[in-house]
Amino acid sequence: MQTAVPTTALWVSLAGMCLIVAVRYLAISGLFAWSAKKIRPDIYAPADPKKAARMARQVKREIAWSLSAAVLYGLPAGLAAHLWATRGLTEIYVDPNAYPLWWIPVSVLLYLAIHDTWFYWTHRAMHHWPWLFKKAHAVHHESRPPTAWAAMAFHPWESLTAAWLIPALTFVIPIHIAALGVVLTIMTFFGVTNHMGWEIFPRRWIEGWFGRHFISASHHHVHHERYMSNYGLYFRFWDKLCGTDKGLSPELLAAKDAAFKAPQPQ
Ligand SMILES: [Zn+2]
Ligand SMILES: [Zn+2]
Repeated sequence: MQTAVPTTALWVSLAGMCLIVAVRYLAISGLFAWSAKKIRPDIYAPADPKKAARMARQVKREIAWSLSAAVLYGLPAGLAAHLWATRGLTEIYVDPNAYPLWWIPVSVLLYLAIHDTWFYWTHRAMHHWPWLFKKAHAVHHESRPPTAWAAMAFHPWESLTAAWLIPALTFVIPIHIAALGVVLTIMTFFGVTNHMGWEIFPRRWIEGWFGRHFISASHHHVHHERYMSNYGLYFRFWDKLCGTDKGLSPELLAAKDAAFKAPQPQ
């Protein structure tokens, strides 16, 4: 009987985290898809019935793959949360003074930099070996062009390469609970907005310091058009260093210009 309570708590934590990841995905992707539909009806609601039917099928597929990925992302996160809550394992801390205050932003950057590095090299490997692409990554590229619903449209093999990374880091690198929340929020935000077919940031940001260093839809859209470039997730660092950065999508920048120049519907 003694083990009954911890086992139940573990199952609650695992199921709860899967549910949180799935609901978060549906809510955030849904919100961005809804807003992008107004700006890019050509992608989200094409007038041609054949194209519209194809897009409806694509969105269904993106949601189904994303929900299966939500389970694979939820399980290691649920396990880490359980071990943190019940045994004090992991390096997640609650008292902001447990480490110097400067550590809070540094830890966020460190988590993002490690995640970005892992993502860049595993992503590039999946494009480098055709058999690996077919097995693990082709699903993500079935969407042409992707929508905000494709944020987590990964084959289970691809999810398995990445889902454990941030939960594992919490056992190694101290992070304040709120800073971890920031990391997860940034991860969700980039995952969704990079695929929404619309450049969310102002053009002057994209052409300035921000756009030179950070990835947004204009950058990731090129990856979905041309495949063998623009592999990064948050930062352009590895792409620039390794010569795989092919710049920003003229299509997305033109769509942004056109939207602001077009007369507003009455
Ligand atoms: Zn890819
Ligand atoms: Zn993508």
